[in-house]
Amino acid sequence: MDSLGLSTVTATDGKPATTQPAPTPAEYLARAVAIATENVRNAGGPFGAIVVTADGRVFEGVNRVTANLDPTAHAEVSAIRAACQGTGSFDLSGATLYSSCEPCPMCLASSLWARIDRVHYAATRDDAADAGFDDAVFYRYFEGVDADRAIMPVSDIELPAAERVAPFTEWQHTATRTEY
Ligand SMILES: [Zn+2]
Repeated sequence: MDSLGLSTVTATDGKPATTQPAPTPAEYLARAVAIATENVRNAGGPFGAIVVTADGRVFEGVNRVTANLDPTAHAEVSAIRAACQGTGSFDLSGATLYSSCEPCPMCLASSLWARIDRVHYAATRDDAADAGFDDAVFYRYFEGVDADRAIMPVSDIELPAAERVAPFTEWQHTATRTEY
């Protein structure tokens, strides 16, 4: 992992936490903003995020949507992926996410699925909209405003009940499943 430029314990430096004061939330957030700006100079989007685990390990992510041809490669999702790979767990309970910008609905949902405890951000959804990003539109979509739902209709298609729930039936009958 890259150096954070902060006085913190990382996954790689191995120093005990007691030798240096932990960075403040504002310092973590400033780092997220800094890597967001740096990412623009590296052909990425203007977003950066940091996951700090319950035991103080730090994982970074930046937006690589256009660079990786991956519309889900938002900074927060990238940081969550790095944290999960780094900790060897899909559960980040106790972690805090710091994002350079208010997380979009996908990133908020990803944080919920990752069981992250708390989210802090710097720029707002309106700041992102002013810069040409769709966060504000997508927020309105999830708020259920009819005019905005038209941008992507979602509806179920009826199938026989047994077929419809077959994956869940298989899941419930699989003793080796990993609950999440
Ligand atoms: Zn996002």
